[in-house]
Amino acid sequence: MVAQIIDGKAIAEALREEVKKNVSERAAKALPVPGLATVIIGNNPASKVYVRMKQKACQEAGIHSVGHKLPAYAAQEEVEALVQELNQDPSIHGILVQLPLPAGLDEERVLSTISLKKDVDGFHPINIGRLAQKGREPLFVPATPSGIMYLLEHSGKILEGARAVVLGRSNIVGMPISLLLIRANATVTICHSHTADIPALIREADILIAAVGKPEYVRGDWIKPGATVIDVGVNRVEDASRKRGYRLVGDVAFNEAVEVAGTITPVPGGVGPMTIAMLLRNTLRAARLADGNDVG
Ligand code: NAP
Repeated sequence: MVAQIIDGKAIAEALREEVKKNVSERAAKALPVPGLATVIIGNNPASKVYVRMKQKACQEAGIHSVGHKLPAYAAQEEVEALVQELNQDPSIHGILVQLPLPAGLDEERVLSTISLKKDVDGFHPINIGRLAQKGREPLFVPATPSGIMYLLEHSGKILEGARAVVLGRSNIVGMPISLLLIRANATVTICHSHTADIPALIREADILIAAVGKPEYVRGDWIKPGATVIDVGVNRVEDASRKRGYRLVGDVAFNEAVEVAGTITPVPGGVGPMTIAMLLRNTLRAARLADGNDVG
């Protein structure tokens, strides 16, 4: 059996077109252009690339984006003052503080300073707390996990009653995707670096979400035949045959897994493009919230 491959690139593209259409419809109704402020602190090269990609995507969707940069030695108060200023700025509907922050800054305090209604990354402790509680609704859900849920729903997976294994428990992927799967009535096992016999747990999984950041960690013979495999990992491995000297691989050995799984996401072109599409969607949502709309 060869798995069906989920084309995250195409799905994300369609979502981005939908956002673009909504943004232009707003303009026709003389509603404000959605605005996203990005804040980057320090010189992390990966963060710079991610922020540039997000700004470019905003531009393509007709979303106004403003980039703010602070030096790695910025004081906590300086970072919080910038966030406060953006909270007050009516042309800004979403605020994204690129993580990780340089050492010495208190991430939780910075994230708590972002207005709940502008928390398009969904990392404000109150939004995450609401995600974890029954009967409570966060205003925003983090982009990568909501992109994963979109891919699962889009590919027609029945989540209710399914056994899901999430590899990784990070604040940005593992934990929030586990909470979303629980909300969708899946039965969720979360694995981390202290979990014993991970292959045995994965063999029971109808749905596997791999977010460990270890190249090709999950082998094909760990996967339950017919399972849905969502590979979040983005890892560089040396490859002299490539011009740039490396290639990107996921946390799952794709060539093995594709022979066993029922459905699988590739790397690149699976979850990655969804993250940006969901950020754009969240920014549009923030603008609609600012209009006074109940966005549901
Ligand atoms: P992270 O913060 O480093 O967390 C990794 C998690 O994996 C931790 O919970 C860790 O356990 C667990 N882990 C590490 N080694 C393990 C092992 N040998 N066995 C079992 N569990 C292990 O990583 P992250 O930020 O969640 O990112 C994970 C991957 O997704 C990375 O490759 C990252 O680049 C990628 N990513 C992609 C996107 C996208 O848009 N496509 C977005 C975000 C991240 P402990 O908690 O016990 O340390």
